Order: sequence, then structure tokens, then C-alpha cells
Amino acid sequence: MKIKRLHLKNFRNYKEENIFFSKGISLIYGDNAQGKTNIIEALYIFATGKSHRTSNMNELVMYGEQFFNLLLEFEDNNYTQKIEIKFEKGKRKELFINEIKKERLSDLLGIVPSVLFAPESLLSIKGSPGERRKLLDIVLCLVNKKYLLSLQKYNRIMKNKNILLKQIQMKKQKPEALNVWNESQAKAGESIIKERKLLIESLESSMNRLLLGISDGQENIRLKYKTSIADENNVYESILNTLDINMEKEIEQGSCLYGPHRDDMEIDVNNKNSRVYCSQGQQRSVALALNIAILEEIEQRTGKTPLLLLDDVMSELDEKRQKYLFDIINGKQTIITTTEKTKFKESGKDISYIHIKNGMVLDNE
Ligand code: ATP
Ligand code: MG
Repeated sequence: MKIKRLHLKNFRNYKEENIFFSKGISLIYGDNAQGKTNIIEALYIFATGKSHRTSNMNELVMYGEQFFNLLLEFEDNNYTQKIEIKFEKGKRKELFINEIKKERLSDLLGIVPSVLFAPESLLSIKGSPGERRKLLDIVLCLVNKKYLLSLQKYNRIMKNKNILLKQIQMKKQKPEALNVWNESQAKAGESIIKERKLLIESLESSMNRLLLGISDGQENIRLKYKTSIADENNVYESILNTLDINMEKEIEQGSCLYGPHRDDMEIDVNNKNSRVYCSQGQQRSVALALNIAILEEIEQRTGKTPLLLLDDVMSELDEKRQKYLFDIINGKQTIITTTEKTKFKESGKDISYIHIKNGMVLDNE
């Protein structure tokens, strides 16, 4: 799968523009605030259906306009194909694949997978548990439709159970009404926890291999799934048990306190929690290894090599890590943004340079 052309209409600061990508590296360069990340954002939306910067779609519509359209042309199995995403303020996003309208935006997942590495990626090391859950969920939704369904179901259950907990608090409902919701939560929660743990195991072994190349081979990574669920061999029973024991607590708080929506992934480096103990440089190495491990995982599970999106990260990596990243990039379609036009030594026909100024393409060579 290789992307060929992105067409943007009323998207962020792009009035109307076409961007053509090379099969290898496309370097998007230009001054600050000209629209480089906006292109990365558009490509990321084709992979996940969502922006990585905002959950408010209205922000993506060009100031003063009512709608945006995005069109991505890509080649897969020697066929040229098209995905279109249309959004009008106040309405739902619409998805068209090869001009056929799709009912669900999630039909998009897995068609043009991508992995984004940006300065914000450090949040998956330094940030809250929610950041790490989000990362795991994005990967699993990309590679496994069943996981997506479980997650959607689980979120619906949480929403309904929260409403019910508040009603019980106000004595409008009896506590017994919780039983059926707790059972559904345990059932959906079980498949979520199982899939996340399998993913983490696989990422852990890849990261250990990758870190040997990125750092000086001194680091040993352990990924631990942190959950309030005590018996990991009997997840369903264990969730149900936890919910039963803590029913009063949940009613008192009026919200769901236990289950995979509260879980975390701890990343230990040399047996210490990287969130607390790692230096900035170590955290960068770990974040890089984590993202490459994710790329490999998607590649293995879908048979497609994800698009690699590198937003503003080259300058932050030292020479050794830059070189390592370039070795990894080899053969993968990669979009890189920088403020300086850096010529690549291995200049050949698979590198293109895209100069962006004020939402317009000045050069696309
Ligand atoms: P940097 O090098 O600082 O990361 P960048 O080139 O990546 O910059 P972007 O984040 O892609 O910059 O684009 C930012 C520009 O887009 C800003 O000038 C901002 O005002 C503009 N912008 C953002 N949203 C909209 C919108 N909805 N309508 C019009 N312009 C917008
Ligand atoms: Mg940017």
C-alpha cells in the first residue's frame, strides 16, 4: 500500500490543494505555522478516523467555512483506490471508499494504517494512564475489528452504568439494577484485557530487540499491564467479583471505578518505571522503540506496511538515533516534516521535497 495524492479542501489553512507523495520519503518543509502538521493530521485521520490533535471536528474546518473534504488516492495490490472523508459542521463525518458511501466511519480502519511519531509521542511515556490506554486501543482497533466492537460496546456500557449509578445515588433506582450491567461490563471487559495483554507481550519482546540498536544496549524493557483485576487467569469472574465487592463505593462516587477503562501499561527500564526514573533522552529512545514496535506489530497482523509519519522529530534525535531511524525507514513510505530543507544523501527518485507556505504548496518536486 502506497499513498499517492492527498487533496484538501477547506481543511485547516488549506483552501484547496493537492499534495503528491513519493513511494519512499516525502519531506515536507517550511517555516513554523505554515501547515506542515496539518498535512500529517489529515493523513492520520485516514488511518484512525480521528485527529491526533483535537476531538472537535469543527476546528478542522477552515475559518469562515462550513465544511471540509479530504481525498486520499493510494495504490494497493496494483489498483489505484480512493478514500474520501467529508465533514459539514453540525453533521456527522461521511466516508466514501472508491466512491461508495460507507455507513460506518470505522470501515476505514486498516485500509491505510499509519504510525505517528511526534514530540507528543513522549506523552505515551510521561503522560497519564489514559495516554497509554489510547495508544494500545488505537493499535488494536487498527488490526482487529472484533476489538473495536468490544471497545465500543464497553464504552456504551460504561455510559449507561454511570447514569444508573447516579440514579441509585438519588434513590431513583435499586442497587440490584446494577447486576445486569456489571455482568455485561465483565464480559466486554474480559476481551479488552486479554487483547491488550497479548499486544503488550508482543511489544515487549520487539522493544527489547529494538532498544539494542537505539541505545547502547544497556537497557532492559519490561511492559506490565496494570489492572485492578486480581485474578489474571480468570478475568471475567475477577472483574465481576471486584465490581460486587465495590458496589457501595461505585454508588457513593456515582461512577465506574474498576475495569479496563482505568487500567495502565507500565513501562519499566532496568526494573524502574520509565515515567518516573528515565532521563529525557532515555524516554525518547523508549518512545521511538515503542512506535517502531507498533509499526512492526501492525505490519505483522495486517500484512500491510503502515505509513510512517514523523512530525518534527528528526531534529530532536541525536545522530545515532537518526541513523537508526533511517535504517528502519528503508523501504517504508515515510512522511517527514522539518523547518529546514535537508537534502538526503541517498538522493534518488524515491525522495520528494514539498515546500509549504501559508497553506499552499510552493514546490512539489
Ligand atoms: P510548526 O513548524 O510550528 O509545527 P506547522 O507548519 O506544522 O508549524 P501547522 O500546525 O500545520 O503548522 O499549521 C498551523 C497553521 O494553521 C496556523 O497558522 C493556524 O492558524 C492555521 N490553522 C489551524 N486551524 C485552522 C483553521 N481551522 N482554519 C484556518 N487556519 C487554521
Ligand atoms: Mg508542526
